[in-house]
Formats: sequence, C-alpha cells, structure tokens
Amino acid sequence: TTVGNLRPTKAIIDRQAIYDNVQQEIKRLDKGTELWAVVKANAYGHGLIQVAKTAKAAGATGFCVAILDEAMSLREAHLVEPILVLGIIAPQTAPIAAANNIAVPVGSLEWLQRTEPILERQAHQLPPLRIQFALDTGMGRIGFRTTDEIKAAADFVAAHPEYFSLEGVWTHFATADEADTTYFNQQVAAFKELLAALPEQPRYVHVSNSATSLWHQACNGNVIRFGVAMYGLNPSGGALEPPYPLEPALSLVSQLVFVKQVHAGDHIGYGATYEADDDQWIGTVPIGYADGWLRRLQGFYVLVDGQKCPIVGRICMDQLMVRLPKEYVPGTDVVLVGKSGSQTLSLQDVADYSHTIHYEIACDLQERVPRHYV
Ligand code: PLP
Repeated sequence: TTVGNLRPTKAIIDRQAIYDNVQQEIKRLDKGTELWAVVKANAYGHGLIQVAKTAKAAGATGFCVAILDEAMSLREAHLVEPILVLGIIAPQTAPIAAANNIAVPVGSLEWLQRTEPILERQAHQLPPLRIQFALDTGMGRIGFRTTDEIKAAADFVAAHPEYFSLEGVWTHFATADEADTTYFNQQVAAFKELLAALPEQPRYVHVSNSATSLWHQACNGNVIRFGVAMYGLNPSGGALEPPYPLEPALSLVSQLVFVKQVHAGDHIGYGATYEADDDQWIGTVPIGYADGWLRRLQGFYVLVDGQKCPIVGRICMDQLMVRLPKEYVPGTDVVLVGKSGSQTLSLQDVADYSHTIHYEIACDLQERVPRHYV
C-alpha cells in the first residue's frame, strides 16, 4: 500500500487521550486486576504499535489481538508482555505461537488433538504452547459449550504438559453494552457453571470487554480486555453513560483542494445525482471510498471553518464534493471527524448516519490515510 503522505488527508491520533482512557479505567479496577489492551485490527484503525506502546506506558500489562500475525508484529516491536490471540489459529501455526510466547484460545478437544502431534514434532526446541480455554456462554462464536467438553480438554492438556500450558480461561458477552441485563446475566451464570468444570482455575480468568468493565464491574475476573473505550468511544453508542468521560483519540482531517462556484441546474458527481438549485460554492476534498470514507456517507457532512457542509453527489473513490456556505480558498482545513470551531463531528455521528457502529468506521480507514501521532 502506498501511504498518502503528500496529500493533506490524515488521521490524527491523540496518544494522551488513549493514555488517559487507560489510566481512568485502571483506577477503577480492583487491586490485582490487570488491563490488557485490545489492539487488534491495527488498534481499531489507530495504529498497532503506537497504541500498544501508549497503553503500556499508561499501565496496560498485556495485549489482545485477533490474529497471530498481529501478535508477531507486537513481538517484532519488542513488546514482551503477555499476548492473547482472540481467534482460533491454524494448528500448523501453533509452533510459531509457542516459540514467541503467544497465548492462543482453545475451544475444542479436536483442536488440541490436531495440534499435539504438530507440537510434538518440534518439542525439543519449543516451550509449551500457552493456551486459554474459551468458553461459549452465549456469544455463539468460539469456545467450549459443555462441562463434559471442558473436562475432556482439561484431561488432554494435563496428559500433555510438555506441549500445552493452560494459563487462562475466558468468555465474551454478547450484550454487555445494553441496558437490559437478562441475557448478560444468563451468560454470567453459564460462565460460573462451566468454570467449575475445571479442576483448578488457571492464572488468568477474564470476561470483560470495555462494556463489561464499564458497566458490570462485579464480574471482572483478574484481567479485562479493554478495547473500544481505550480509543475514547462509548461501547454502547449512546445507550449507556460511561462512568467517566471518554476522550476520543482519532480525528480525520483534510483540506479543500479545489473550489468553484456552480449555478442553478449544474450537476455534481457520478450519476449526476446532485443538482444545484441556485448559485453555490462547491469544494472538493481528497478522500473517498478507497480511503474508507464509504459511498453510504453521501448526504452526510464535513466541517469547514466551524460549519456543517453537506457532502453533495456520490462519493468517488478518492474525492468527494461538499457545498460551502461561501467561497473558501483551496488549502482551507476540512474536518471529517473531530472539532472545528465550536462544532464536533464524532465517529458516532458518522456511524449513526451510515447505520453502523463507530468500530466499523474506524476500522474502515485504510492504510493509505497516514496516521499522525500527537
Ligand atoms: N474481547 C473479545 C473476545 C473481543 O472480541 C473484543 C473485541 O471485539 C474485545 C474483547 C474488546 O471489545 P471492546 O472493543 O468492545 O472493548
């Protein structure tokens, strides 16, 4: 990927905000409970290594990622803390995880049985693979679902201590960000029941994503997996109030690169879907769907000089057009996410307009958009 360093479009990441969000959360945790920073998917678009280092400086003692490659990127950046991969890895790649001290989730006996001979072949040169049992208490994604499965897997691990080291057990909630706690409570009950099937509790027991830690502190375990709130985003959208103000870390800015006046009857963009009904100032902004500013944002707005300016016409691959309240010179700043004058445009606003969640908007931002750290 070519990064657009010579173009004015950039994401600005406020490391202090990430630092503050992590510290605020750590302050609320019981003594002995660790915060592991969830930095998967390029730290939700904010930049894996920069975020990991900032979270570590603020007190995070481990990391969660989605895929083994992300864990390897952390190791290559000399981050030596515990890392848990949250997704099931291919048995053939287990030696890489073992060699690099990376913990992986296990949700079936079958996975252990397939992985054991692969580890056995390289046993003389590898430490035991760190594993954490994933319990499916209602998320329906990965994990053991019955006490019998857990017991069988625990027996298998106990019989193969040279290949597997059971360091943790965890689950993930489907509705921790909702006001209605019925399903959440069912999952908590299921977790307790499944956990009791283990002959002894491993070192790490954890259930909390951001929402669980923010709003259901009672069941924190001894680690939290702190993701979206670290980036200053409310996991519930606006449904629940966070216990402290979250500071959004990401802004997205650009500049007008072309400005013109059009007249009644003139059209803008592919399909000529927008028609000016009077004299209007139109600015062109160098960002488009190839950057992650998706076509479904047609009709949304950007901020220029503290004013909302509607996106007119279809969003192109690399550019979009906005209607300006008056003439502005090329080079004028454009805010797509963040503050302009007294106005704030949040990732949540963008998500609401496009009927999705802020997580998705942040992850959509492509590598072509450079990240600037302040
Ligand atoms: N734990 C697991 C298993 C996850 O899949 C995720 C992210 O989706 C998280 C923790 C972090 O969640 P959040 O970003 O809502 O804090």
